[in-house]
Amino acid sequence: MSTRVAVVGAGIGGLTLAIALARAGVPVEVYERADELREVGAAVALSGNGTRELYRLGVGEALDAVSTQPTELIYRDGRTGDRIAAHPGGASYRARFGAPYWGIHRVDLQQTLAAAVDPAHLHLGRAATAVTDHGDGAEITLDDGSTVTADVVVGADGVHSVVREAVVGRGQGPVYSGTSAFRGLVRRSDLPSLPDPLAIQFWAGPHAHLLHYPMGGWARDDDTINFFAVLCGPRSWQGGNTEVPDGELLAGFAGWHPAVREMLAAVEQSPRWPLLSQPPLTRWARGRIVLIGDACHAMLPHHGQGANQSIEDAVVLADLLAATDPDTALAAYPRRRRARTRAVARSAWETGTLLHLPDDDVAGLSERDARFTGYLDANAWVHQYAASDATTTKEAA
Ligand SMILES: Cc1cc2nc3c(=O)[nH]c(=O)nc-3n(C[C@H](O)[C@H](O)[C@H](O)COP(=O)(O)OP(=O)(O)OC[C@H]3O[C@@H](n4cnc5c(N)ncnc54)[C@H](O)[C@@H]3O)c2cc1C
Repeated sequence: MSTRVAVVGAGIGGLTLAIALARAGVPVEVYERADELREVGAAVALSGNGTRELYRLGVGEALDAVSTQPTELIYRDGRTGDRIAAHPGGASYRARFGAPYWGIHRVDLQQTLAAAVDPAHLHLGRAATAVTDHGDGAEITLDDGSTVTADVVVGADGVHSVVREAVVGRGQGPVYSGTSAFRGLVRRSDLPSLPDPLAIQFWAGPHAHLLHYPMGGWARDDDTINFFAVLCGPRSWQGGNTEVPDGELLAGFAGWHPAVREMLAAVEQSPRWPLLSQPPLTRWARGRIVLIGDACHAMLPHHGQGANQSIEDAVVLADLLAATDPDTALAAYPRRRRARTRAVARSAWETGTLLHLPDDDVAGLSERDARFTGYLDANAWVHQYAASDATTTKEAA
């Protein structure tokens, strides 16, 4: 008999898992606390290692239709605007890695994934408050006091996961990285100074960086650019996103290139929010409860890999649950995923350090430039990875 799976969270990882399980004939129910799936106003970039899996699951074409492919990946000096390095995007990236690089609105991503899940099995407005392992199954308590049981419960409930506590106990959550961020969506027509507006670009400088990419290029009638501006500090942080005095973002980029300041000034300043990362967990599963995505390994966003790693987790876990009994699957899953996600998280942390080097670190800056110049070759291991390729039968044996 098929393993019955219940997933907490209908984010990128939870929905991908639900699609993959349903395709494999594994019964799955998804419980999401939000009443509707619409995280408007934010975007995500998905690389070949994530998009190849979405094609495999049959949702690639639908997502491609609402994505754009950045023309290049460009690293610039944040003050002079000089190009430090550039790597081909678009068709060239796709040819090299066998799958595209997309910029996509989160709401488009989430709704397209959700459309591939049978609505009878997607329960919105149902927040989990606790999860309990029963040895041969697990139970979710929902916020209306009701409970549901399944052979396996998956925590796909993001960085502030409730399910994580049932796996690793209290006090094992993500920590503040000492960096914080602002974000915005800007119209390209409001950015006359911006060079290469259809590229994904990092502008690096002392104690800060700006990342932006297009949400619409030639494929869509959408000239939105998504930006993400990171400042080092403050030293400590309590709580979540915070409204801060107007001008705080621009003050962090004083003296930067006009295109940078133009972009940051083009929209109302967003709240400032802390960038968190999850110290490696000693366990990813306890009994019949298991974690995927940010609930398990939230990482800094400087490598654009958090969502991609959630997708990879989801397809690996789905393949294992479809191929073997739950206990064997949950034992094999961390073995398949731990080293990879740690390596990607470490790389994201290192990228942040390189992006924020001070002017007087001359040796560091020359290493930064060399690393950015060799970026795509040195990071091919991230982009060309095919999580679903490894055979599950071998793992399950
Ligand atoms: C500023 C920023 C930029 C980023 N850019 C990129 C990028 O370009 N590329 C990339 O790959 N990654 C990026 N990431 C990371 C990426 O957003 C996350 O890694 C990814 O969303 C994690 O997916 P997930 O499914 O694990 O969690 P989420 O997408 O966070 O989904 C969790 C879901 O669980 C639900 N939920 C939470 N608690 C409960 C509960 N108790 N009961 C029921 N449901 C619950 C939530 O409502 C949500 O729908 C970025 C992150 C940040 C902060």
